[in-house]
Formats: sequence, C-alpha cells, structure tokens
Amino acid sequence: MKNTDKVKILIIGSGPAGYTAAIYAARAGLKPVLYTGGQPGGQLTTTNDVENFPGYPEGVNGSQMMVDLQKQAERFGTQIHYAQVTAVDFSSYPLKITIDDKQLLEAEAVIVATGASAKYLGLPSEQAFLNRGVSACAVCDGFFYRGKEVAVVGAGDSAAEEATYLSKLCTQVHLIVRRNEMRASKIMQERVKNTPNIQIHWNTQTEEILGDDQGVTGIRVNANGASKVIAVQGFFLAIGHQPNTAIFRGQLEMDEAGYIKVSSGSTKTGVEGVFAAGDVADRVYRQAVTAAGTGCMSALDAEKFLAAKEAEPIHA
Ligand code: NDP
Repeated sequence: MKNTDKVKILIIGSGPAGYTAAIYAARAGLKPVLYTGGQPGGQLTTTNDVENFPGYPEGVNGSQMMVDLQKQAERFGTQIHYAQVTAVDFSSYPLKITIDDKQLLEAEAVIVATGASAKYLGLPSEQAFLNRGVSACAVCDGFFYRGKEVAVVGAGDSAAEEATYLSKLCTQVHLIVRRNEMRASKIMQERVKNTPNIQIHWNTQTEEILGDDQGVTGIRVNANGASKVIAVQGFFLAIGHQPNTAIFRGQLEMDEAGYIKVSSGSTKTGVEGVFAAGDVADRVYRQAVTAAGTGCMSALDAEKFLAAKEAEPIHA
C-alpha cells in the first residue's frame, strides 16, 4: 500500500450532484478531488435527451451534459480520478478512504454523491432496448412517447405516479402488476384506476421486450399463466431504485431502503465532516436538477465545516 495521501475535500461520485459540489468547492479554493466511480457521469449517461434541466431550451444529450459538467469542474481546478472508492472508515477524524482496494487517502471533508440505480427486471431484451424504447424514468423520457402506447411495470407509488404522468402524454398506458394487488398508496391507486387510458394487467409478468431496428414494438407477458403480446412502443420500469450505499453500511446512518439520512434542510450526515448529496440521500425527487441543487448545498456545508474546523483553537 502506498503512503497515505491527504485531501482537503473528497467527492465520491460523478453525477450532477458530485460535479456541482466540485464546481462550488473548486471555486471556493478548496481544491476538491473527485472519484468518478464505475459509471462516470452517473445515471444521466443512460438517458438520451434531457429536456427538463433549466437552461437548455433545445434539450441536451445526457452524456454531453455530464462531459460539460466535468469540464466546468476541471476548469476551476477539480482533480478528477477515474477510480472507485472501495471502502471508507469514518470512525475517526480525519476521514479514511480506500481507492481501488489499494490506495489510502485521508480527507478533512467528504461529499458522498454516489447516486442510485434503477432496478431492472434482468431480462436480456431489456438491456438490448435500453434507451430505444426501454426507460427507467418517465419524467425524463415520457415526452418522446407522446401519442404512443406504452407499458409501465411495477405496483408501488413510483409505478402509479409514472403511469399517471404518461397517461397525459400517451394514448394508452398498460400497467403491468405481478400480483393481484398494488403496493401503492390508496390515493395513488385510485387515481390510476380512475384514469380511463390506464389499463391494469393483474397477475402479469413481463417475459420479453420485443422490437426491431426502430426500437420496441411490444412486450410478451404471462398473464394468469397464459402468454400474450401487448403492442407498445415504450416500456418503463418503475420497480424501485437502489441507492449506491453498500460501502457506507455501518458508517453512515441510513433509512430502511439504504438511503443516507441527512439532517433536514442540509446535507449533513450523522458523521462530522461527511455530507451527502443527490439521489443517494433522496428517495422522493431524484431529478438531475435537484441533485445539482443538493450538490451545491453540500459544497457550501463542507466549506462552512472546514472554516469552523480551521478556526478551532489548537490544544497542545
Ligand atoms: P416500491 O419498492 O414501493 O415498489 C416497487 C414495486 O415494484 C412493487 O409493487 C413490486 O411488486 C414491484 N416489483 C419489484 N420487482 C418486480 C419485478 N421483478 N417484477 C414486477 N414488479 C416488481 O418502489 P417505488 O419506487 O414505487 O417507491 C419507493 C418509495 O418511494 C416508497 O416508499 C414510495 O412510497 C416512495 N414514493 C413516493 C412517491 C410519492 O409519494 N409521490 C412517489 C414515488 C415513490 P410487489 O408489490 O409485488 O412487491
């Protein structure tokens, strides 16, 4: 193992939260060091066009937006490393971080911006049509299916919300529910049931996404034991998200789903000097713009923390 490197402010993650934190921290002269993780750019790199991020009247390609954010962070002096944080030890200060299982770092402040990953069914055809008809975000991609027929899989609040959202854009929404009941809150279920162009398919499992060179053309499902095809041009997953918090287990306080807990109105975690921003601490909004917003907050919180630390009297 190499000698321990010392870092003032370490940012873990390279989505909108991580890069925005980096821009603010770098402009504050804190010389942030950012580790991208295994998916540089994060979830947005799996989206085509982002049309709901303010400031892009024509929309922007998700991957391009992340390249731009990276350049902006680098322009002010962020050091970016294409490597993975594999372990952390926040039990003592300074905070200890291990990179790629071999390099040890010590940081005065850490911003956790590791995001969340949408859950997928695990079908090979689902990956084959990703971004060509298969999406895990109706708010991001629904617009591209205006006037078309789509399916949403899931039965929780996300599925109910996404189906309702899509029903305003699409001619018909097929909600694919694997059991004979929904987990979604009563009010959201009622909304779905009362929307004329949402059809609920109970006891139905998706077996395959069908399509051609142009994208998705339908889904093959098993409904009550019988196989059938539903013709759709879009297939939306709404079976939950998984926050990327495995390496923080036992180190940071989390809710029952694994999202990092932060104190209300700030990005402070329960550990002094550790802040969390973006989807890793947000199970509700999960938008690029909200991630960027909390990324900014985390850098300001970290800056304040470091200034207070420096002002502390030194005890001999
Ligand atoms: P949930 O974990 O609540 O629901 C996931 C749903 O996906 C379940 O109905 C589950 O089915 C279904 N599912 C899981 N795996 C599969 C599979 N392989 N095939 C088919 N269906 C599957 O996740 P959500 O994202 O819906 O919600 C997460 C949290 O966020 C919840 O606490 C929710 O209340 C909250 N939320 C709140 C909103 C709001 O208040 N506006 C909006 C969105 C989310 P089964 O029921 O059979 O297990």
